[in-house]
This record gives sequence, structure tokens and C-alpha cells, in this order.
Amino acid sequence: MRKPILAGNWKMNKTHGEAVSFIEEIKGNVPSANEVETVVCAPALFLKEMNDKAAGSDVEIGAQTMHFEENGAFTGEISPAALKDMGINYSIIGHSERREMFNETDESVNQKVHAAFQHGITPIMCCGETLEERDGDKTEAVVREQVEKGFKGLSAEQVTQVVVAYEPIWAIGTGKSSTAEDANETCGTVRKIIAALYDENTADAVRIQYGGSVKPENIAGYMEKEHIDGALVGGASLKPDAFLQLVEAGK
Ligand code: PEP
Repeated sequence: MRKPILAGNWKMNKTHGEAVSFIEEIKGNVPSANEVETVVCAPALFLKEMNDKAAGSDVEIGAQTMHFEENGAFTGEISPAALKDMGINYSIIGHSERREMFNETDESVNQKVHAAFQHGITPIMCCGETLEERDGDKTEAVVREQVEKGFKGLSAEQVTQVVVAYEPIWAIGTGKSSTAEDANETCGTVRKIIAALYDENTADAVRIQYGGSVKPENIAGYMEKEHIDGALVGGASLKPDAFLQLVEAGK
């Protein structure tokens, strides 16, 4: 049985005060972490205080990205060791916006996934195709390359701890969500790719989220699908009420 995981990705939104009051508002109202993992991936600036406020609750705080090196001359970057030192246990890795705008590649994503494991951080590794790739029937080839390269050098045990977020790029922030059937089909394809790389048991243990214009009105359709174990949610994760509805539906 795979435990569902619902993660919000705030991107570059909210002030410090808004971030802290969001956590105050939701922390007593999310389902038990035994039923669903609830993660809020916030701007790095707020992580420490949000995590302190969430202490003892069923809410986990995550980063939206991290560097693969522990420290050094990487101006503006986020050290995985510093994240862990603040008590942060999750990081999104290889979000399409990072790949598109900040030059992240499958190779750097792979380095970051390894670094996450070195520091005891659960990687939420993103993959997904552009509209052009989808229209060109290349979805499977694209996610195959992203998963194969992203997982390079990982043990089967580590792979079972990775959360894969399948996010078709054309569905992110556009309001044009994938149908639950299509999303499930590609999440199933990701699982087959992992089974071929490792084995069926490993693939069965990996949690795969769908992401792309998920909201309270459509999440149930995804959650009932065989291969979808949760969601990575951008826009709809910004309001406490909507976020709580999403997490509740994630159970
Ligand atoms: C995301 O940021 O990963 C995302 C899926 O955004 P949205 O839910 O707004 O489409």
C-alpha cells in the first residue's frame, strides 16, 4: 500500500507573514500523517519559521529546489545540508520551471536526487512533456529519459523513497488539466519504466503524483486512479481552504 502524498508548491508567492499564518491556519486541520503526507513547499526564506510553527503537527515543510553541493561558491543557492539542519525533509527537484528557466538538466537533477539522499531529504522528482512533445507522440520517450537519467546510480531501496511528480508542462498553471485517464496512463508508464530499470516490487512501492492544474473540484478523479498516489499542486495550494480540501481528498 502506497501512502498518498499531497504537496503544495507555492513557487515565488507569499510574504513571510502570509506564509506563517497559512501554517497556523492549517496545522490543526490536516488529516493524520498516517493517512496522507501533507507537504508545503515554500520559498526558502520562510522555511525555518514555517517548520518551527508546524512542529508536532501533521504538516511537513519542503523546499522547492536545492543545490547538489553541500556548500561552496554558488551564490544564491540552497544547501541541502542547511535544509536538513533546519529540519526540512522534502525538496522538489527538477520542476519544469527550474529546467526551463534555470538550466536544470537531467544530469543535475540526478546529482540533486543523490544529494537529497545523502542528507536524508525525500526528493519529489518532476518529469513531464511539453505540448509539442505530447502532440508528437513523444510523451513516453520524454518521461523515460527523465526517469532513467534522474534515477542513474540509485539503489532499488533509494528508488522506493523517491516521489515522482508527473507534470505535463502544458497543464502547469494553465487551467488545462490532463484527464484523469491520460494522467493515470502516463503515471502507469512511469511505473513500467521503473519496473524495467529495477523490478516490479520496487516500481510498485514508488509514489507517483500527478501535477498540472489540480484543484479541489478535480482532485478526486485523479486520486481514484490506480497509478496516482497524490498531487503536486501550484496555484490551488495557496489558499488555506482550498489546500485543506485537497489534502482531505488525498486520503
Ligand atoms: C506546479 O507548480 O507544479 C503546478 C502543478 O502548478 P499548478 O497546480 O498551478 O498547475
